[in-house]
Amino acid sequence: MTALRELYQEVILDHNKSPRNYRRMEDADRKIDGYNPLCGDHFTLFVKIDKGIIVDISFDGAGCAISKASASVMSAAVKGKTIEEAEKLFKKFHSLVKGEADPLEDFETFGKLAAFSGVSEYPARVKCATLAWHTLHSALTSKEFRVSTE
Ligand code: ZN
Repeated sequence: MTALRELYQEVILDHNKSPRNYRRMEDADRKIDGYNPLCGDHFTLFVKIDKGIIVDISFDGAGCAISKASASVMSAAVKGKTIEEAEKLFKKFHSLVKGEADPLEDFETFGKLAAFSGVSEYPARVKCATLAWHTLHSALTSKEFRVSTE
């Protein structure tokens, strides 16, 4: 598990220091707020969809290192994917952080997402890691404009 721990530190540090797709998007098709009251993580997610494909995605806001890095990795992972593919990845990520999936068994799919498997040992941190994904899920499937982990 040393490799995973190294990946965790590398990914969290890197994506927290220079988050990908961290900007507001004025012409987004969906704009939705995600809030994790337990930790105080609060992000706004912007999504642009064309013919069922997530052509652009960005976020801004503030939160702990895990929530911010997770939003960054998530945005990079789903950009260019179809809504269906993104939803599938959301389910996989969810099982990963709940300790129900082995990242090493499906490393091709998980890539950098595997770094978050360690949070499964810390239930409070699971909400930090999944906040961006829950927010994306709402952006893709409902007309709600605010999502909370509580
Ligand atoms: Zn947090």
